[in-house]
Amino acid sequence: MKIVLLKEGVHKDVDKDDPRFPNACTEICSAVILLKAENSEEENIIIDTGNWGYEKEILTELEKQGVKQDEIKWIVNTHMHLDHISNNYLFKNAVRVSKNGFWFADKSGYWFDDPEEIKVPGIKIISTPGHTPDQRSIVVESGKTYVIAGDAIQAEYIIKGTFGVPSNQDYIDSAKKIVDMADVIIPGHGKIIEGQDLEDLKKAVYKMEVK
Ligand SMILES: [Zn+2]
Ligand SMILES: [Zn+2]
Repeated sequence: MKIVLLKEGVHKDVDKDDPRFPNACTEICSAVILLKAENSEEENIIIDTGNWGYEKEILTELEKQGVKQDEIKWIVNTHMHLDHISNNYLFKNAVRVSKNGFWFADKSGYWFDDPEEIKVPGIKIISTPGHTPDQRSIVVESGKTYVIAGDAIQAEYIIKGTFGVPSNQDYIDSAKKIVDMADVIIPGHGKIIEGQDLEDLKKAVYKMEVK
């Protein structure tokens, strides 16, 4: 399957002149990733759907790929923060792999406590807790090992030697698991990490300590 970044994840201060955010101080939206089916065995999957306000941008990019909204067969959410799930509603034909609860009163989510039990064709879902207890990452083998990490990898903070989340050992253990297995990391926010950037990140992850 082809990995397409429909929207790069952002988390940054808002430019005060940006007309899209007249009253906000932070722009935040997760990465939205299309795993595009390339043959009849594969199915179109979207990993995370971003924040409110980005619908048009996401759908425009999807259209450029020649994929219709109702052709998305699966939505997999890395975790249940609003900046990752808000546009799930756009893909009404999809089976939603996300936890039910406050956000999803319809109870149509498809969820197992052990993510290895979730069978979505062409991907592997692994448990990478720390940012939240139920944070998952998605592993895609497509020539290289890609890990779509949600907020399990917040490189900007890790490189600086800080945590983006409350400091905990689970976060460190999950980050080690990801940097050890990945050739390419697609994080929830920020640029795709590979090559020297991944080497630098790996060093920083191995220096992390619970504070
Ligand atoms: Zn996030
Ligand atoms: Zn989050």
